[in-house]
Amino acid sequence: MRTFYKPVCLLLIALLSSLFPTVTHYAQRQGALAERGAGGSLSPNRQSSRGGIKEEIPDKYRERYEVWKSEFLSTETGRRQWEMYAHNEAFTLTINISTDNRQGATTGKYKWNDAGELTGATITLGSQLDEGYPDPIYYPVMNSLSWSGISEIVSGRLLAATKIAHEFGHINRALGTDATLYRLQNQLMPVYKRIFLSNGHDTRDPRLLKLARQMGGTSLEIWEDREYWGEANAMLYLRDRISEKNFRCVLFSRIRRTVEAYAEPYADRFKQIAQAEPSLCRWQ
Ligand SMILES: [Zn+2]
Repeated sequence: MRTFYKPVCLLLIALLSSLFPTVTHYAQRQGALAERGAGGSLSPNRQSSRGGIKEEIPDKYRERYEVWKSEFLSTETGRRQWEMYAHNEAFTLTINISTDNRQGATTGKYKWNDAGELTGATITLGSQLDEGYPDPIYYPVMNSLSWSGISEIVSGRLLAATKIAHEFGHINRALGTDATLYRLQNQLMPVYKRIFLSNGHDTRDPRLLKLARQMGGTSLEIWEDREYWGEANAMLYLRDRISEKNFRCVLFSRIRRTVEAYAEPYADRFKQIAQAEPSLCRWQ
């Protein structure tokens, strides 16, 4: 039953999340434990301040990366966001590829300058990004592509580009959030998780209540909010990419049902994308 299922899953995710200091991540279940170290760096930014996008792609992955990237850039959303970061001299977006979490991706290694401004972050793409569908509970958009009803339009490159859009959603959100708060959350979330694991998972522990007040939510609440922002950006990408009315409406219907089952408090951000003009599909 879903009403019982979600709390169990929430606990599971909380436990998994607490095993590594990932700020934003998703992974296939079997890949989750392999993921590591994507937490924000709090050291002063020693990079050049010229910003832009740094693509650190090993030669052996270059060909597949270009395919995924061109798929992302085939949409207005992808092009607009890429251009925004490519021309942002105050922020450096690094993109690399790793064999850790092969079918997933992470966004982390956040950097701030001495003035407290967010000046950089790294998106790490799995080397097999074009395979594997994340869990529906926190990834209703990416998971929707696994549905056989839209198998005609889903390719590996489309899946990979949707995952890239999810990661760009994390960066967009990080830059759109008060930098001091975002940095504080990144600093305190691992502390919260450590205490949570050591106190018998008691969220009423005064230490955890204090941390939650400082961060603006529990570690899990902040984490899931960030994941759903990533998913909202993935949906924005798919909205552009899938212009054929029937396919788009079938896809959005699938997303809606998953959001209502697992992410009801966050439904508005998905609904707004579905209903943005020109809207081809009803959310109901
Ligand atoms: Zn994510």
